[in-house]
Amino acid sequence: MTVKTRFAPSPTGRLHVGNIRTALHNWMLARKAGGQFVLRIDDTDAERSEERYIEAIRQDLAWLGLTPEAEERQSERLTEYEAAFERLKAAGRVYPAYETAQELDLKRKIQLGRGLPPIYDRAALSMGEEERAGKEAEGVAPHWRFKLDHDEPIGWDDGVRGPQKFDAAQLSDPVIRRADGSWLYMLPSCVDDIAMGITDVLRGEDHVSNTAVQVQMFTALNAEPPRFAHEALLVGKEGKLSKRLGSLGCDAFRDRGIEPEALIALLARLGTSKPVEPIATRKALVESFDLSTFGRAPAKFDDTELDRINAAIVHQLDYDAVAARLPAGMDAAAWQAIRPNLEKVGDAAEWWSIVTGPVSQPEFDAETRAYLAMAADVLVWTQTPWRDLTAAVKEATGRKGKSLFLPLRQALTGMDHGPDMGELLPLIGEDEARVRLQAAARG
Ligand code: GLU
Repeated sequence: MTVKTRFAPSPTGRLHVGNIRTALHNWMLARKAGGQFVLRIDDTDAERSEERYIEAIRQDLAWLGLTPEAEERQSERLTEYEAAFERLKAAGRVYPAYETAQELDLKRKIQLGRGLPPIYDRAALSMGEEERAGKEAEGVAPHWRFKLDHDEPIGWDDGVRGPQKFDAAQLSDPVIRRADGSWLYMLPSCVDDIAMGITDVLRGEDHVSNTAVQVQMFTALNAEPPRFAHEALLVGKEGKLSKRLGSLGCDAFRDRGIEPEALIALLARLGTSKPVEPIATRKALVESFDLSTFGRAPAKFDDTELDRINAAIVHQLDYDAVAARLPAGMDAAAWQAIRPNLEKVGDAAEWWSIVTGPVSQPEFDAETRAYLAMAADVLVWTQTPWRDLTAAVKEATGRKGKSLFLPLRQALTGMDHGPDMGELLPLIGEDEARVRLQAAARG
């Protein structure tokens, strides 16, 4: 049986960093086993699902390089859900319920007020035929609940959390279908996992109680449940689930100059016992992926850590990987020279504009102009022209520190601050460097 995982977003918004992490881990789990990774669009909620979000999900996965082997859409599988529903109904595992949302809310409040857990009391199950007919006559359409088997112990060996046990009697029979006939998440997900041959369900720990219910659903549908693993949630570095994280998506990362490989290197290891390292090759990350290294504590997402990983990844990127994003004319040699100084690929443009010029130099006083004229004269082109130039002018003038370096930098780059001159000067080249020094000296 080859491993088959799925990433099942609801297209009701853009993917955020938490979803991206789940997608990545499912992709890695499949890749490591040479299996398959399926994108399942959970769009049974017609009202809230939007086509533009489906397109955005595809694009985000493409940017991340998490290509699915197949894509499925729940809205195209409604007949399958209907069939499963009929089977469960025939087997007495679903029942109609007529309570309104307000009634249910009131029941919950009363239970909580008495210090009891708010478990659905199965009132609908004990309704007589007459009572039911009365509701129907009033025109009240039922919603439908899955009937848990209280005698069947629930348990699974969770890939992250270890052995899990639940008492069905301590759970509410979940609503699986609304009065208007539309589906809630629970049943379609099981039907799909069975039909698509999903072997491993890896998702956030907010789904643990859903899993408890779904384990019985798989059995009720005569299927072996898949392996389950629930990872701890992603939180901000302050340790809380933040609104910001919930809206932080691929667009924001891209705009900030974050490379997909940096995000992936971070998210692959965050919350595991393995160190977060700037590993730029997927193969290495995939090989070291191991659910047993995942911790139970929330994974802390820290932007500073991402920036650090990003810079280290940028330093490893080949020219071919970035060429399309570099300014025109910037060649492989220039990339090679500039790369170690960058935090983001986008910063290359600033360097390159200094290299190609023109630079706008400040006005220098007479003494500084004479200094720069002398610098133009003593400039010799060695392996380390900046070091040799500054040594020569220091020797000749006795200047040091700022008065030694700043006029040279200003004349050569037009700026007070900027990239390391030792890296930059060789790219500017001897002739252009001399021309700039002479122009500054003329004033
Ligand atoms: N659409 C569900 C969600 O986004 C899928 C959960 C699952 O992986 O089964 O939470």
